[in-house]
Amino acid sequence: MKLKLGKNDLFNFPQSRKLIMHIDMNSYFATCEQQANPAWRGRPLGVCSYLHPKGTIIAASKEAKEIGIGLGTKVWEAKLKYPGIVLVRDDPTKYRVITERINNIFADYTDEIDKYSIDESFLKFKLKNKNCKLQDDVGAGLPRPGDEYGNAEVYEHDEVDDVVNIAKNIKQRIKLEVGDWLTCSVGVAPTKFLAKTGSDFKKPDGLTVIDEKNVDEILGQLELVDIWGISWGLKRQLNALGIFQPLDIKYAKPSFLLKKMGKVGYFLWSRLNGLEIDQMIVNKEEKRKSIGHSYTLLRKTASKDELARILMKLCEKMGRRLRKRGKTAQVCWVGWRYTFGGGFARQEKMDRTTDDSWEIFRHVYGHLAGRVLHDQVSKVFVSVCGLETKKLQLCFFDDVLKKDRITRSMDKINDKYGEFTVVRGALNEWSEQISDRVAFGN
Ligand SMILES: [Mg+2]
Repeated sequence: MKLKLGKNDLFNFPQSRKLIMHIDMNSYFATCEQQANPAWRGRPLGVCSYLHPKGTIIAASKEAKEIGIGLGTKVWEAKLKYPGIVLVRDDPTKYRVITERINNIFADYTDEIDKYSIDESFLKFKLKNKNCKLQDDVGAGLPRPGDEYGNAEVYEHDEVDDVVNIAKNIKQRIKLEVGDWLTCSVGVAPTKFLAKTGSDFKKPDGLTVIDEKNVDEILGQLELVDIWGISWGLKRQLNALGIFQPLDIKYAKPSFLLKKMGKVGYFLWSRLNGLEIDQMIVNKEEKRKSIGHSYTLLRKTASKDELARILMKLCEKMGRRLRKRGKTAQVCWVGWRYTFGGGFARQEKMDRTTDDSWEIFRHVYGHLAGRVLHDQVSKVFVSVCGLETKKLQLCFFDDVLKKDRITRSMDKINDKYGEFTVVRGALNEWSEQISDRVAFGN
């Protein structure tokens, strides 16, 4: 791979004619609880799925974190450490409502919002530059050798300042319009990865801009495991190659990392060098009326069969909701996120408007079947929009009527006895329950 790239050259790619803002709500579930109950503010608080002594804290307030109680601490352990700790059960509905209000604020500033999880979003801002055409994100693909990137200009400072002002504005509006106890950490940078690095850099209530000038200074203060996507296992692998800090990766030869670690190493190098390889997963149709589901995989997989079964199940859920509301959909949307970042999303106008789960699935599956998966998938999304009220039509074909009758009977049984009591044959093998709980996805 011939990539002639000097120090920080990648920041000057046309792709950097955009800025990404990453907004991460601090200690989200715990802060939401403190927002709702002023008596709990300023006190160590833990949100748990179960209050049983063996239950685990899934979110801790900043006061709890200060005394060493955090994500994963057992209830009995927390009580031992600090008997006065406030422990509450999680309340997904409350968090969803607050998230929606926060997201509505974001929508005032840009259409391109990647709702990464219930408490994290990426916002994309295009910067004006007449001399350079904005290039689409390259997604998870590798840049091709010999690609021409032209001589893009480095953005003017006042443009960056505009986006920084938006960040300040958003922080203020969240406090004023959603809740005065809520804080967020914000990162502003030319890529998704660096924006995320920026928001992680100062918590709580931080605002960090990363550009070609300070990127080394910031990366120099981080450990390998502070880097988004580097686990303890990956850290050991990097150590074995003589890489001990993030800057070692940045200044390593990409061909060396590619050879020793495969795509994972190359992606790391690209991200640290300011090359955008993470696609924004934006569902612009969401604002219109739509029905959708997402599913975070407990066991990450690159198996298309397995993913197909999950998608089928999500389509079935979606179809049932459509039929219950007497609607049909014209457009379907499918997307997935890779474990190592990046992802894929596509929208399709179907040949006819439908409420049939199987038919929607057929379209959705087409996108999965025709694509090379770059990595294991960690989350999948489907939604339909372009909703219309179902028209009653005279139908003379027996098989269509029969199918409609079967579907309606299945829905009736599932309504009575619970979701997925009766399912299509192919779904049957899929035993894992799709739970409706809010974990860390949305
Ligand atoms: Mg957070």
